[in-house]
Order: sequence, then C-alpha cells, then structure tokens
Amino acid sequence: MREIDTLIIGGGQAGLSTGYYLQQSGIPCLIVDANERVGDSWRNRYDSLKLFTPRKYSAMPPIEMNGNPWGYPDKEEMADYLELYSKALELPMLMNTHVQSVVHRQGQFIAETSQGLIAANRLVVASGPFQRPYIPDFAHKLSSRVKQLHTSEYLNPGDMPAGRLVIVGGGNSGGQIAYECASTHKVVLSASKAINYLPYKVLGRSLFWWYERIGLLRKGPETRLGSKLKNKQDPLYGYELKKAIADGKLSLAPRAVDAEENAILFEDGSRMDTEGVLWATGFRPDYNWLQVAGAKNSSGELLHEKGVSPVVGLYYVGLPWQTCRGSALIGWVAQDASRIRDAIVGQFKNEASVGAGSNKSRSADVSAGA
Ligand SMILES: Cc1cc2nc3c(=O)[nH]c(=O)nc-3n(C[C@H](O)[C@H](O)[C@H](O)COP(=O)(O)OP(=O)(O)OC[C@H]3O[C@@H](n4cnc5c(N)ncnc54)[C@H](O)[C@@H]3O)c2cc1C
Repeated sequence: MREIDTLIIGGGQAGLSTGYYLQQSGIPCLIVDANERVGDSWRNRYDSLKLFTPRKYSAMPPIEMNGNPWGYPDKEEMADYLELYSKALELPMLMNTHVQSVVHRQGQFIAETSQGLIAANRLVVASGPFQRPYIPDFAHKLSSRVKQLHTSEYLNPGDMPAGRLVIVGGGNSGGQIAYECASTHKVVLSASKAINYLPYKVLGRSLFWWYERIGLLRKGPETRLGSKLKNKQDPLYGYELKKAIADGKLSLAPRAVDAEENAILFEDGSRMDTEGVLWATGFRPDYNWLQVAGAKNSSGELLHEKGVSPVVGLYYVGLPWQTCRGSALIGWVAQDASRIRDAIVGQFKNEASVGAGSNKSRSADVSAGA
C-alpha cells in the first residue's frame, strides 16, 4: 500500500492549485486523477467552447497564461495551460488513477484506486462540480427516433441529426451550443428563466476587471451582493445569441416540462416536434465513493464549513460557492486552495506538538515532512 501525508483527489484547477500551495509549505502530497492527461476535463468538452473569463482570470498563481490577457482562451489552450502548470511546478501527479472508494480507518483515509490502495493522513477532495450529467426524467418518453445527447457528450453540430433541434437549458453551454447549431439546424432554445445578457466590456474594460474592482466574485453568500449573485442564474456574456434570436436565426421557448413521442412540451402549453434534443441541463454531485462516516448529512450532501469537513483531516476545494462564486472559477480557486493549505498546516502543527508530547510516530513523520 502506498502511503502519503495528503492525498488530493482530482487534478483539475482545484487539485493543482491545492498541490502547489501544499508543496510550497513542504507538505508531502500526491494528486491522483482518473484522466490520462492533465487538462482532459477541458479537452473532453465541446469543440467550440470559448471561456467566458479572459486569460488574465483563467490562470492560477504563480503562472500566468500566455497571450493577450484580455482575450478569451479556447478549451485546448485551457487544457494545455493546466498541463504546463503541473509540469512547470513539478507537482506530484498520478494519472490514470480512478478512486473507486475512500474509507476512514484508525485516523487514516484509505483510497481504493485503479492503481491499488493509497493511505493518507489527510484527504482533499477536488473532484470537480461536474460529475453526473443530469437529464430530466421525462426524457425517457421520447421515441428512439429522437437523438438525445447531454452537453457532456456533445462535441459539435455534426453530432446531431439534420433538421430540428431542441436545446434544453439557457445557461452558458446551452447558449453557446444553440448559437453554433443555428447555422446548421432549425433550433429552439428552451430556457426556464429570462436570459440575462451582459457585455464583455464596460467603459472599455473587461467586465471581469470591474468584478475584481468591487470584489464581486470574492463575496460570500452571507453578504448582500453575494446572496443576490447566488440566487441569480449565471449571465451569458456577449450579445451574439441575443442578436441571432432577434434576426430570427433561432427561437426561444419557455421551460421544457414534458415529452411525448417526437416532441418536447413547454410550460406555456406549446410543443415542438424534433429530430434531436440536446440536454444542457447541468450536472449533479456524486460522492457515493466517499464512504467516510460523518462526512455527509442524511440526504447525502457534503458537510463542511468553507471546505473544512467536521471529519478531522478531510477537506474540499473547488465546490460551487465553497466560500464565494469564485470558488468554482479558475481565476479565484487559489484563494480557497491557500485557505485549505493553511488549515492543513494548522492541523499538521497541532499533531506535531501533540506528537512531541506523546512521542507518536505519525506526528513525528508529519513534522519531518513539514
Ligand atoms: C462548459 C463549461 C465552461 C466553463 N467555462 C469557464 C470559464 O470560462 N471560466 C471559469 O473560470 N470557469 C469555467 N467553467 C467552470 C470551471 O472552471 C470548470 O468546470 C473547471 O473544470 C472546474 O475545475 P475543478 O478542478 O474543480 O474540476 P475538474 O476540472 O472537473 O477536475 C476534476 C478532476 O477530478 C478527476 N476526478 C473526479 N472524480 C475522480 C475520481 N473518483 N478518481 C480520480 N479522479 C477523479 C477528474 O478526472 C478531473 O480531472 C466552465 C465549466 C464548464 C462545464
């Protein structure tokens, strides 16, 4: 069995950033990831994906992204940046390693992985917010003649059958995909709420520059601004989709509520016969593999205070709204990662002082690692 002080599950932005800060503090850690290459969670997303955050805010300390800081990276650039980040900082990565379960035994976290068992004194879960594609139950009422894909499976318009296409979900992915499919398909975009369009720039400056100036993405949900932001649907950046709708290149429908044979039925009683449905309906968390007593409530939701679990030694980075909206965004994840590093260092020191008194071997290892 491999042993390490801190095991980080997930080598996306959240896991890499945590690994960097732990390394800086001399805490031995290992980052495991199921993917073959660092950055694959971006490479596997749809081909035309352009980030909504400019390069300046699509990077993590201490490495900036090359190129115009106010331009927008595509998914390959983002994936390559993360790979370069892990290599340049020589982060301890173990790829092709799927964590199947984690249990807590005698103060250690034991991970059963596709590469064998790993035991750790501490565990950071950074497995990402996009785990289980969510598709509404009524999808099964559609006939097999209607091709259905979730955004996690979609790469480009060629994946959808010719003719009519209903895209369900008016968030960023649904909006971008509806826009690109409108040049090849007759598209109806079903959005449950009015789409909130925002410009890329205000008074000549990136909107994200303004966000940073007022600290918007760093505000916690307990603040007035933070709670407003949390309760609002994410905006769509840019007016391309709005213009395409105004020009009649695609149309909008309200919330999709049911399905029948070849048709999607909408909240206002209208319906649309279609050849294909693209579900841009998001994801749900899946922590079934985390079998640690006290880590979840009776509904299976993670228990934590700003990423620190009530189970000693268990931490999270990258959860949506872990501390603020920025928690699940590239340019802001570092602040949570460094906070979790501080909590781990605190726990380390605590153990070291208790260990010095009681001569516990585990604490002696820990202080030697630090
Ligand atoms: C379409 C789309 C566009 C986005 N655009 C932007 C944007 O413009 N700007 C921005 O800041 N954010 C954007 N985001 C949000 C966010 O930055 C990304 O989702 C980001 O990938 C989240 O990083 P993460 O490290 O938390 O999770 P992920 O990138 O998902 O990384 C988690 C890693 O954990 C691994 N993993 C999971 N479970 C296990 C397991 N059991 N065993 C081993 N490994 C495991 C996965 O293989 C994966 O590599 C976007 C998200 C989506 C879906």
